[in-house]
Amino acid sequence: MTTGPGRSGLIMEEPLLWEKGQPGRTAFSLPDQDVPERSKEIDANLLGEAPDFPDLSEIDVVRHYTRLSGWNFGIDTGMYPLGSCTMKYNPKINEKMAATPGIASSHPLLDDELSQGSLQILFELQSFLASLTGMDAVSLQPAAGAQGELAGMLAFAAYFRKNGEQRNKILIPDTAHGTNPSSAALCGFKPVQIQSGTDGIIDPQVVAELMDENTVGIMLTNPNTLGLFEESIREITAIVHEKGGLVYGDGANMNAVMGIVDFKRCGIDIMHLNLHKTFSTPHGGGGPGAGPICAVEKLRGFLPTPHVTRKDGAYYLEYNCPESIGRLHAFFGNFGVLVKAYSYILSMGAKNLKKASQLAVLNANYVRESLRNDLYLAYDKPCMHECVFSDKWQQEYQVSTLDMAKGLIDHGYHPPTIYFPLVVPGAIMIEPTETENKDDLDQFIAVFKDLIREAKEDGERLRQAPLRTKVRRLDETQAARKPCLTG
Ligand SMILES: *Cc1c(COP(=O)(O)O)cnc(C)c1O
Repeated sequence: MTTGPGRSGLIMEEPLLWEKGQPGRTAFSLPDQDVPERSKEIDANLLGEAPDFPDLSEIDVVRHYTRLSGWNFGIDTGMYPLGSCTMKYNPKINEKMAATPGIASSHPLLDDELSQGSLQILFELQSFLASLTGMDAVSLQPAAGAQGELAGMLAFAAYFRKNGEQRNKILIPDTAHGTNPSSAALCGFKPVQIQSGTDGIIDPQVVAELMDENTVGIMLTNPNTLGLFEESIREITAIVHEKGGLVYGDGANMNAVMGIVDFKRCGIDIMHLNLHKTFSTPHGGGGPGAGPICAVEKLRGFLPTPHVTRKDGAYYLEYNCPESIGRLHAFFGNFGVLVKAYSYILSMGAKNLKKASQLAVLNANYVRESLRNDLYLAYDKPCMHECVFSDKWQQEYQVSTLDMAKGLIDHGYHPPTIYFPLVVPGAIMIEPTETENKDDLDQFIAVFKDLIREAKEDGERLRQAPLRTKVRRLDETQAARKPCLTG
């Protein structure tokens, strides 16, 4: 078996802190009390019920968290080819910049005059994102891609309200991320699914048949979640605009096209970017993130408030936007994430951002070509930043996508995205990103090929995988829905 980067060394058992605690243990000692003890009743009146915290010594606490940290897997540990999530390396210079005292300790309640540096960062980030996408106006307000989608849908609703139009349907391809229909539904729009063609992209004819004067427009992901470029995008957006509709662009896959595609020329009206994907700020485990939205001129006024503007050489927060959909959260969201993305963009420069996208596409195609004789390729054509395989050929040996994903864990790899997009049964979506070098890609490919050989010869071990981890196959739905956080 090819060796992966994984190993099974000392893996400590670790109970919950509540199971570890013993009454009377403490992590500090105080001098003996030299005043009379207060009655417990007074304490109870003052403090209410004491929280249910376990009693622990310092070493109990230190070992607990140190051991848990060793169970974590992150991009700093190894390859994390989670398709659609762009788990690229996060350069440490970004952390250093965000931790600069003047930035890390700037207070959101300070007046604009005392926050010029922070405001300048935000202002320049707005302009960088505008020029990277080709769009006219940027709001840094949304705290995630999904919130960007919601803001975009609210802006669409405000636009039609202003025009005195009532539209209630929205077209969404079957390959879209689940957040697309949810965001649209939250604004009262009824999602209408568009079936992608046999070549994995949208046929403009299908859009033409569905688009009418009751339809808000379309939400398009480009490149889409099959890792394919929507080649008819200009035709599709023209059809939607012709009927007075608007086009939302889901830019989560921007890593394939930084500095290459002009989204305004493609006909996009509002799009979001995921700074925690494309712009190398850390993510996973639910945040923090940032999902700025970029809009064309006619929708500028509807963007969330506040945004940063410049007047007479000074920067300030603009709140006075009568048509705006308003605030999305307190202050400026995850400011540190915005600083990290700004640092990434500045340290790369326009030329290298474009190169990063080209390398991301090259790496994905390298993986696609290397595994194409081992795994079924759902759409057999060159891909963008990710490639989608399936378990079609392994079903003969009763080995599924889930079994192979779990098998990878035993060899030190985070599994790729599986069973998404839904249009590919048993999908395995691999996004290596530009930050993996050829040696690491070759090692990953070799391990994957070994697993597939094993699936053929003796699938039983794979059906049991992972075998080298602390816990084996979990009930993931139960774990997500009913997490056990206390003893
Ligand atoms: C990640 C993702 C989203 C949602 O973005 P979040 O920042 O996770 O809210 C939307 N669409 C696609 C295609 C994505 O990959």
